[in-house]
Amino acid sequence: MKEIEKAYEAKQFEDSIYKKWEDSGVFTPKVDKDKPSFTISMPPPNATGTLHLGHATMLAIQDIMIRYKRMQGFSSLWLPGTDHAAIATQHRVEKNLNEEGKNRHDLGREKFLEEVHKFVEGSRSTIRSQIRKMGSSCDWSRERFTLDEGLSSAVRTMFVKMYEDGLIYRGDRIVNWCPRCGSTLADDEVEYKEVKDKLYWIIYGPFVLATTRPETKLGDTAVAVHPDDDRYKDMVGKKYMIPGVLGDFEITVVADKEVDPEFGSGAVKVTPAHSFADFDIAKRHGIEAKSVIDEEGKMMKNCGKYEGMTTEQCRKAIVKDMEEMGLMEKTEDYDHKLSVCYRCKTTVEPLISKQWFVDVDKPVIEHDGKKKTIKERSVEVVKNGEIEIIPERFNKTYFHWMENLHDWCISRQLWYGHQIPVWYCQDCNEEIVSVDAPEKCTNCSSKNLKQDPDTLDTWFSSGMWTFSTLGWPEQTEELDYFHPTSVLETGYDILFFWIARMIIMTTYGINQIPFEKVYLHGLIRTRNGEKMSKSKPETCIDPLDMIDQYGTDALRLSMVIGSTPGNDLRLYEEKIAGYRNFVNKIWNASRFSLLNVNNEHLETEFDPKKHIVSKADKWIITKLQYLIKDTTENMDKFLFSEAGTKIYNFTWGELCDWYVELSKGEHLNPHVLVYVLKNLLKLLHPFVPFVTEVLWSNLKEEKMLIESDWPKFNKELIFNTEVEEMELLHQIISDIRSARAEHAVEPVKQVHAVIYAGKYKDFLEEKREPLMRMARIGELEILEKGDKLEKAIALLTPHYEVYLPLQELIDSEKETKRLEKELVNLKGFEKALEGKLKNDGFLNSAPTEVVEKEKKRLAETQKSIKKIQKELSEL
Ligand SMILES: [Zn+2]
Ligand SMILES: [Zn+2]
Repeated sequence: MKEIEKAYEAKQFEDSIYKKWEDSGVFTPKVDKDKPSFTISMPPPNATGTLHLGHATMLAIQDIMIRYKRMQGFSSLWLPGTDHAAIATQHRVEKNLNEEGKNRHDLGREKFLEEVHKFVEGSRSTIRSQIRKMGSSCDWSRERFTLDEGLSSAVRTMFVKMYEDGLIYRGDRIVNWCPRCGSTLADDEVEYKEVKDKLYWIIYGPFVLATTRPETKLGDTAVAVHPDDDRYKDMVGKKYMIPGVLGDFEITVVADKEVDPEFGSGAVKVTPAHSFADFDIAKRHGIEAKSVIDEEGKMMKNCGKYEGMTTEQCRKAIVKDMEEMGLMEKTEDYDHKLSVCYRCKTTVEPLISKQWFVDVDKPVIEHDGKKKTIKERSVEVVKNGEIEIIPERFNKTYFHWMENLHDWCISRQLWYGHQIPVWYCQDCNEEIVSVDAPEKCTNCSSKNLKQDPDTLDTWFSSGMWTFSTLGWPEQTEELDYFHPTSVLETGYDILFFWIARMIIMTTYGINQIPFEKVYLHGLIRTRNGEKMSKSKPETCIDPLDMIDQYGTDALRLSMVIGSTPGNDLRLYEEKIAGYRNFVNKIWNASRFSLLNVNNEHLETEFDPKKHIVSKADKWIITKLQYLIKDTTENMDKFLFSEAGTKIYNFTWGELCDWYVELSKGEHLNPHVLVYVLKNLLKLLHPFVPFVTEVLWSNLKEEKMLIESDWPKFNKELIFNTEVEEMELLHQIISDIRSARAEHAVEPVKQVHAVIYAGKYKDFLEEKREPLMRMARIGELEILEKGDKLEKAIALLTPHYEVYLPLQELIDSEKETKRLEKELVNLKGFEKALEGKLKNDGFLNSAPTEVVEKEKKRLAETQKSIKKIQKELSEL
């Protein structure tokens, strides 16, 4: 008999169990050519962050995958790390500085970066400990950081490779600019906000045209119309002088298919320097661009009296001036979508800037004897199934995004990040692109070199995450063995930001796919299906708080069971508390088993021939085999919720409700208890690693549970006949229990039962002990068949008939009194309802559905009266 605590206290065990795992080296897989590999690159949390529910979900699901594969004998690598998240991190540190009344320029680049590094070191160690709290069995010895030495060198190497392939170029192009962050933004870092704005109709030389941004008039160089628009046919190609607030200026009229003839008057002003659409129009027609808004979002020197105004101030001033000059025809209210920075919500200014770009349309990837563009290749790998996205419906979104991809602007005007590996000679203007800082100019040997001050888009480095973390550009054996990775698991909201860029960088950079499968989990929502938001703290669940209260295992289950790929999941505290009860159930069932076995039982290897004794044993072992088969299939298909639910139902139902109960009588079989317990703990382990490992430590096993083998289905251990019989027994016990409950039989009361069991007579005779004990039967007659018993509750099925004589079942005097009382109440109610339904006033004034409802109530009441009368007559 084993000593084991009565209740499971998660807090008492979790940290020490985690340490035991980590110290044992089991998280660190070896390159072992005799074993298959299984790899997950952990999506690196931002260096700014603390653990939120999104991370917790991702960690729980990935840990399930990794533990499962590890137990199946794969050399399983889960590689953790953090992302420097340049824009977010710099923003955070700047905010802290602002609170002290300082900004980054006060400190200078070097000092500022020191501050950032300090901040990041602190938050990275917080993240690490939080990842551990979730029970994540990741390989800390291989932990990486997007800005560490190796990854930085990988980034520079990739930049040089792309530059040499002519994929990276520097050019004047229109970009999304955040004046607050002082940086470019990628297309998908721009968010859209619905705003109520004004549409201004302005008199524009021979045109009247509508615009939401009159201040950009200062940068207009053309007017565009649709080629089929008859109103303007004769004007296309001509130049006009337009009266403006700073005097007359010249525009050219161009015809372009992209112009919507339905918008405004069908003619639009073209400001190539401050609108993406206009930039493209100007490029198509060879029209010049004139910049008027600077990088702080202010009007430039060429704007006369408006110089230095913000765009908003300028709009007001220019509208006023135009009204005075009679150039304003009318204004209208106008709803439209405003572009804002995803990080700081400042209005994005499109402007022309000298930036570094990746050309997405240049054929450079050699594949199948053809040269393909990074766009083509990225689409192809998903189309031909080299990469599978789960759920598949996200393919469409992926293709749409990829096909609409423009050249990717990779330079950011941030200090924090990978500085662009390009040096400019200050003497001869030579541009030197190099992995390492050059000592002198390659052209004139001058040592007067200056590195490009900009840094690279964070996605440039995180796009390389799966292979740079394995040592690339070195051809390491890890890279060879663990790459391509097996699964990339993340929230569906990050599909484009990150997953698409990983596919681009990997197919181009190393001519491999980054991962074989993409598993997208849903987002966590509140009980009512709302998004959890920091502005409504009452709806937010803090994972660390929940771990503290209910334990990690309960939190993990609450995020996995009921969660299907790509669909959102509702989470609330009671749900987590519910799974804590389940964890306790596991503990109690295991405790029961442990209290009934001795060391010899634990140490003896299970021998089915010798150790399986009863039909109850055969039944539970068969059920266990099917559970192993089904959950393994589910796990292989990434159906973790289904697998978890099946294990949950088995534990609660088959094991606790039946086998443990059966074992409390003559069926106690320690060998089978041990066998079932060991296998169940293994199946449960990926889901609830802590409690199962604690329990496992009582089983005298050499290895820890985390490194034990996943159970294998054994068809030799299927006993279908016994299963059928045992389920019949369970059915009879359940039926008698429900009948007892229905008739309010006191739980301790032993009842009399007569069973006509047909061909099951011998079987039930054999199971007399559990049947009597579990259904609380004091006197049991089992016959093959017989006459129907009067005055008894009859439970009739095709296989058996059970009769429970009423006199013995209940105290007839007490029951008569109870029923008579209930009958009086019901009759009173019947009378009232009948009166109401005869009342013309009620019938005329009440809505039909109310009348119908009352009629239904009356019918129900009358039915109950009849039932009670029948019961009374039988007593
Ligand atoms: Zn911003
Ligand atoms: Zn030079």
